[in-house]
Amino acid sequence: MTLYRAQVIDTPEDPFSGGALRCDADAGLLVDGGVIVARGGFADLRRRHPEADIVELPDGILLPGLVDTHVHFPQVRVIGALGMPLLEWLERCALPEESRLAEAGYARAVAAEFVAGLLQAGTTTALVFGSHFAPAVDALFEAAAASGLRITSGLVVGDRMLRPGLHTSAKRAYDEGRALAARWHGVGRSRYAVIPRFALSCSDDLLASCGQLHRDVPDSWFTSHLNENLDEIATVRRLFGGGSYLDCYDRHGLVGPRSVLAHDVHPTDEELKRMAEAGASVAHCPTSNAALGSGLFPLNRHLAYGVPVALGCDVGAGTGFSLFKEALQAYLLQQLRGPDGTALSAAHLLHLVTAAGAQALGLRDHIGDLSAGRRFDAIWVRPQPGTPLHITIRHSNGPEEALAKVFALATSHDVVQVWADGIPVRRDRLADAVM
Ligand SMILES: [Zn+2]
Repeated sequence: MTLYRAQVIDTPEDPFSGGALRCDADAGLLVDGGVIVARGGFADLRRRHPEADIVELPDGILLPGLVDTHVHFPQVRVIGALGMPLLEWLERCALPEESRLAEAGYARAVAAEFVAGLLQAGTTTALVFGSHFAPAVDALFEAAAASGLRITSGLVVGDRMLRPGLHTSAKRAYDEGRALAARWHGVGRSRYAVIPRFALSCSDDLLASCGQLHRDVPDSWFTSHLNENLDEIATVRRLFGGGSYLDCYDRHGLVGPRSVLAHDVHPTDEELKRMAEAGASVAHCPTSNAALGSGLFPLNRHLAYGVPVALGCDVGAGTGFSLFKEALQAYLLQQLRGPDGTALSAAHLLHLVTAAGAQALGLRDHIGDLSAGRRFDAIWVRPQPGTPLHITIRHSNGPEEALAKVFALATSHDVVQVWADGIPVRRDRLADAVM
């Protein structure tokens, strides 16, 4: 057993429903077999468990491991291509790079870079858009399993409007997905997700095969894109004869409590109502929305309808793996919405990148905060002395203010240790893997 001593901040109660930030200046977390078996004041736990090994985490803040609900594995190397709207960016940047993952060695190298990028940023759980190539998806699951990262992922499928090398058929999509799920679904910390790229690139037959696969793989997840960009939405409407974007997925049984739809910048009221009723979640990706000029996410309408919202970095349209930056951008976008914006506190931001993500992925019983009974997925944020983050935290009036400084200023470099399931992630090994 190990007893961790730290300043711990988390959000066991949802701040969007009145929950307060929980801050313990000198907490003890007793961890056994990857599970937090007791939480309390350090001195008290030390007395009651003299046999436990002590790990002191002085200064800084211990937070729950971050949860990313939308990120693309094959796009690590194209992060930062600015100045294009969605469809042009796909054509010129994303799809040419995604085609390169047909080569297994290339895919393995990118998988190592991707997993290292997430863990270095403090992300311990992610819902990941895989590759269009099954061997590349195997490479991703292998890299994640070796590192301790908890992922839900799968084969990305499309059969039109991408480029010929990325197209599949309904039968092949089903067969390859079924075989990947047999290898990875429920194995260790991995789970399988059915992933049509977006309705624009999928015929109705292909979406029907996705629905079949989702039904045939018990407890599989579904994720795709929804209502990201106005040109995209108009094209989907034309291709599918005028119905709602959500209905392209819904009519095949793909919208339910195990569904996460990315973006939803331009939803209709009917779509929001339907998602709330189905229990489907939305992955809000604010740096991507800003970089591609997709729009200002209507968080107020999602909250009003009761649609669960979490955050995703959406690498490579998003501008990096850090969910601190993503949360800051969520805050900034809401400020820009004026009277329609939702004022987000540091507690809201922490909730969005931890507990809300865990909830969207059906993992709230296991992760999302650092209560007794949860898995010990945690990150230690400890800025270098003399940096603006270190200075502002030192001069903060209380923990909530210190947490706001983390969202304003922290980068991956300030995440000095990551634990996945109680096991410290070795940063040197991550670095070696990407050489
Ligand atoms: Zn995306």
